[in-house]
Amino acid sequence: MLLLFPCRPWLRALLLVLAVLMGTSPILAQSPTPSLLLLRPAAVFDGETLHPGWAVLIEHEHIKAVGPAAQITAPAGARTLELPGMTLLPGLIEGHAHLLLHSYNETSWNDQVLTESVALRVARATVHARRTLEAGFTTVRDLGSEGAGYADVGLRQAIDQGIIPGPRLLIATRALVASGSYGPKLNPDLDLPQGAQEADGSEGLVRAVREQIGKGADLIKVYADYRWGQNEPARPTFSQEELTLAVQTARAAGRPVVAHASTPEGMRRATLAGVQTIEHGDGGTLEIFKLMKQRGVALCPTVAAGDAVSRYRGWQKGQQPEPERLRLKRLSMQAALQSGVTLAFGGDVGVFAHGDNVREAELLVQEYGLTPLAVVRGFTSQNAQVFQLPDRGRIQPGLLADLVAVTGDPTQDVSALRRVQLVVKGGKIVKE
Ligand SMILES: [Zn+2]
Repeated sequence: MLLLFPCRPWLRALLLVLAVLMGTSPILAQSPTPSLLLLRPAAVFDGETLHPGWAVLIEHEHIKAVGPAAQITAPAGARTLELPGMTLLPGLIEGHAHLLLHSYNETSWNDQVLTESVALRVARATVHARRTLEAGFTTVRDLGSEGAGYADVGLRQAIDQGIIPGPRLLIATRALVASGSYGPKLNPDLDLPQGAQEADGSEGLVRAVREQIGKGADLIKVYADYRWGQNEPARPTFSQEELTLAVQTARAAGRPVVAHASTPEGMRRATLAGVQTIEHGDGGTLEIFKLMKQRGVALCPTVAAGDAVSRYRGWQKGQQPEPERLRLKRLSMQAALQSGVTLAFGGDVGVFAHGDNVREAELLVQEYGLTPLAVVRGFTSQNAQVFQLPDRGRIQPGLLADLVAVTGDPTQDVSALRRVQLVVKGGKIVKE
């Protein structure tokens, strides 16, 4: 302040008052968005339904009012943003990401875990976080640092403290695997760093779950099955007792557990243990999906990951027949949709490029028959409900002002989600 006003005290005070009145003071300059912001799009999607002609008023970091534009007038001092031709919707919620990984067609997962330093991975992750936010995703469930230890804890702090731009993170930290089940696996003589924390037995699992929570995990991720060797199918890893105990231990600390699982038995054990979501579920059967529905366990099918990996392996989409893996995924998704199991929405971003999160939404519509409306609801209110985030995912008074404006109507054409014009996080404009 003294540097800005190198003059007599009374003149300095006068200048400061003038600066505040004109909105140019350094104090005010710290928050680029005024505390009152009126958004006037062509339509508001409130998380459930599209409302043409509605407007949204934001006060500080929360939504103050939403409704027909004629009923919402700009209070004195409010900034009004006209958003013609745009739909305003709740900030999107990515259900399955790994900000500490980058596309496997750039560097294989093995090489990322084994040869990239944590510093390099964190530097990349800061870019991934910004791209994700600019793509309209204001919340991300990050399901494992994949060998980068507790780097996601610092990443979440850096975002929360405003040091770097990024979405609100729910983090899993290291994730848990049964000894010997995960990777990298190259040479049995070498003690290679692993992509997750190994833990076994009652004592080992309880300790590891508590350790991860103590270091900052918002949720616990377990790998309920995995392929024990290269070129073999996935098989269950943790026992029923181990999974049940992990869930009980996490639940006592107020944390949900999510399970990677793709075999019917791994999915069954995870479901009976009481996990919140099952990730992938590629080998799921109608019976298993019905059990999940009955037990209130959601399926996050991550269809974009399988699609990306198949293409990395040389599949030329549209020119060659679908690989077996995707054919089976199609069958299991049919069973999932038939069962009525609740879906969670996330693409396993990191396998493919951060910021390209909408790929999952597009594939679910184009290849798996979901309606754009179901998918847009999925990435907003439904994800918020499944992940137990009652403060977001809808446009309602009192909820967090996490909002995104896109050109067009994503409830008709889901690719409109790619045309992001404005992102607001906690009432602050982060992309305009
Ligand atoms: Zn994943």
